[in-house]
Amino acid sequence: MGYSGFKVIKEGLFGQKGWRPVWRNPEPKSEYDAIIIGGGGHGLSTAYYLAKNHGMTNIAVLEKGDLGSGNIGRNTTIVRANYFLPGNSEFYSHSLKLWEGMEQDLNYNTMMSQRGIINLFHSDGQRDAFVRRGNAMVNQGDDAILLDREGVRNLVPYLDFENTRFPIYGGLYHPRGGSARHDAVAWGYARGADQRGVDLIQQCEVTGIDITAGKVTGVQTTRGVIKTKKVAIVTAGRSGQVAAMAGMRLPIESHVLQAFVTEGLKPVIDHVISFGMGHFYISQSDKGGLVFGGDLDFYASYAQRGNLPMKEHVMEAGMTLMPMIGKAKVLRSWGGIMDMTPDGSPIIDKTPTDGLFLDCGWCYGGFKAVPASGWALAHLMATGESHETAAGFRLDRFRDGVGLMDEEGTGAQHNLH
Ligand SMILES: Cc1cc2nc3c(=O)[nH]c(=O)nc-3n(C[C@H](O)[C@H](O)[C@H](O)COP(=O)(O)OP(=O)(O)OC[C@H]3O[C@@H](n4cnc5c(N)ncnc54)[C@H](O)[C@@H]3O)c2cc1C
Repeated sequence: MGYSGFKVIKEGLFGQKGWRPVWRNPEPKSEYDAIIIGGGGHGLSTAYYLAKNHGMTNIAVLEKGDLGSGNIGRNTTIVRANYFLPGNSEFYSHSLKLWEGMEQDLNYNTMMSQRGIINLFHSDGQRDAFVRRGNAMVNQGDDAILLDREGVRNLVPYLDFENTRFPIYGGLYHPRGGSARHDAVAWGYARGADQRGVDLIQQCEVTGIDITAGKVTGVQTTRGVIKTKKVAIVTAGRSGQVAAMAGMRLPIESHVLQAFVTEGLKPVIDHVISFGMGHFYISQSDKGGLVFGGDLDFYASYAQRGNLPMKEHVMEAGMTLMPMIGKAKVLRSWGGIMDMTPDGSPIIDKTPTDGLFLDCGWCYGGFKAVPASGWALAHLMATGESHETAAGFRLDRFRDGVGLMDEEGTGAQHNLH
């Protein structure tokens, strides 16, 4: 089923009765050429690009719940290419280009909105750091504009510029950054993979990974044993647990990250804004809710909800930056399980077990990586070679320390990422 303006008008006139399920609900086969564990954004995009770019269609995505019920449906939808370090910057640059063509490629409205991101700075030292970052972004071929205080005021006049504890000195503006509708991204990739013959199997938890003589031979699931020679672990916050099924201990800690949304308001915030003196960022959804978040909850957990101290901390930072939001009512908060690596950068790599691949360690920034991660993992699974944009995301950097990409300069302390 394709989407077009004509189809939307026709269905509107005839009672919306012509729509069909967007993907099949197949029974698992006894064997596949490759299996992807995890039906989140990364698992679905990997399946899509395996089928589209490499012609591998006898594959399955196994999801223990419903497609898109993990972090892909829980994030705050910010998309950007403003990374500083080589290794990361070319990857996220590639990802943003894929975002820009995604709606046409998937024929699916992902509500991609390049409304621009402003990272505020509040001291001379912070300005220097942002100048360096901006230069790295421009060298990479992406866009970055340094704004002074008046430049920021012109774009977002409702911030507190006057009596604030942390005066705004300026901001690094990234016009091509923005947001997209997270569920639609999952649905678009799911539909595209399904159309190419990929089996998307929901309510199918992987409970074991079969390995014989150092090679993957299949997976144990709640719906039976499935044979395969290639398995990718793409389970975000559960990566440590699933990798343990293959006898691996990953350099990953799982932490809760919360987010919040207010009641719907008339359009007021037309950019993504992040506060430089606290961990707080905000944007407005197309439905009108102010969507915002902040830091991790500072303890390892598999719970998909957070605690009150971090709520207070985030609200406090928001009120400091833009006191006007105090009038809005918060409707909901929720949490997701973040797969935190010691250097804040991800892993897309083979493992010591033949046929077993890893895609994890996305910390709290894996939404923007969805297209490029799927692209790179599909390349690795199909060709056996790392994709050029993801060559730095090696697992062994945590063993020998060579090639660590400490994007935030915070070392192994997750609470400082
Ligand atoms: C509150 C919050 C805000 C965020 N904001 C942003 C943002 O603004 N920008 C950004 O870039 N990133 C953001 N992120 C991060 C981003 O959402 C994640 O990094 C990314 O979604 C993780 O990849 P995924 O989509 O594949 O994960 P998921 O959607 O979690 O997919 C993993 C899937 O694996 C499944 N699974 C686990 N174990 C098994 C098993 N044994 N068998 C079968 N299936 C299994 C899970 O059920 C899950 O569906 C945010 C995250 C949160 C929680």
